[in-house]
Amino acid sequence: MNMGHVTLVGAGPGAVDLMTVRARDVLLTADVVLYDRLAPTEELRSWAPHAELFDVGKRPGHHRVSQENIHQMILRWALKGKHVVRLKGGDPFIFGRGCEEVGACREAGVPVTVVPGVTSAVSVPAAAGIPVTARGINRAFTVISAHDPLTEDEFKGLVTLGGTIVILMGIGTLGHTVEGLMRHGLSRKTPVGTVENGYCADQRVTLSELDAVHTVAATQRLRSPAVLVIGEVVKLAADGPETGEASAVYGRVLQAASAAAPPTADA
Ligand code: SAH
Repeated sequence: MNMGHVTLVGAGPGAVDLMTVRARDVLLTADVVLYDRLAPTEELRSWAPHAELFDVGKRPGHHRVSQENIHQMILRWALKGKHVVRLKGGDPFIFGRGCEEVGACREAGVPVTVVPGVTSAVSVPAAAGIPVTARGINRAFTVISAHDPLTEDEFKGLVTLGGTIVILMGIGTLGHTVEGLMRHGLSRKTPVGTVENGYCADQRVTLSELDAVHTVAATQRLRSPAVLVIGEVVKLAADGPETGEASAVYGRVLQAASAAAPPTADA
């Protein structure tokens, strides 16, 4: 029997039209698609008309299909001669365990290719009008996962390097992160932007400052998936329909946090 092959496809941050042309082309020839929670999947049936579709998405705390099982599914179908598409949110090689999936294929001798995607690390801040770099403000940005709490060395490194800090999977460990950055000398008034559900209908932008963000997160009930941006570039966040009037939120949230009272429901 012919050997199949595997394509890891980055699906972008959530909007259908932020998938690449190559991603859509690859889906057309898929026999099997294993897709994630963060990939846009509304129209998957028509994008992959010949494929069997499997939702292997993980929600925080609810690992629906284990990583080991995902590897087994990928390999089982590929070894049967199928074209397996592993559709992942953002870019497959940014924190998505894509590297492990490629490794499993290589180990099994299954041909595997990767189609990069638009990563949330850069595109989700942009949904709020926040550029991760801006000439004259910073010339570096660091993308870090806070799925596990940051270490003292990481705090030290981030504060020493300067530039914009972009944090993925950062909501659960937000208190620890903020406290560590301040302890290592990052200004308490450093602007912080949080963008939840970037490019989705329920996108929400919350602007704050380092010493207030933990309170703001609690009162505003910030939820995953969210990208946190810490740095002066956050001041460049846009007003307007794209961001749900970010500046207005900024004012209200800061006021609410300093008054230690919950903000109004529409803040
Ligand atoms: N490979 C993905 C990241 C996977 S880690 C990429 O390149 O984008 C998952 C984290 O990405 C989430 O916890 C969140 O921090 C971030 N994320 C992904 N899509 C997002 C979106 N549409 N809005 C906000 N955050 C998002």
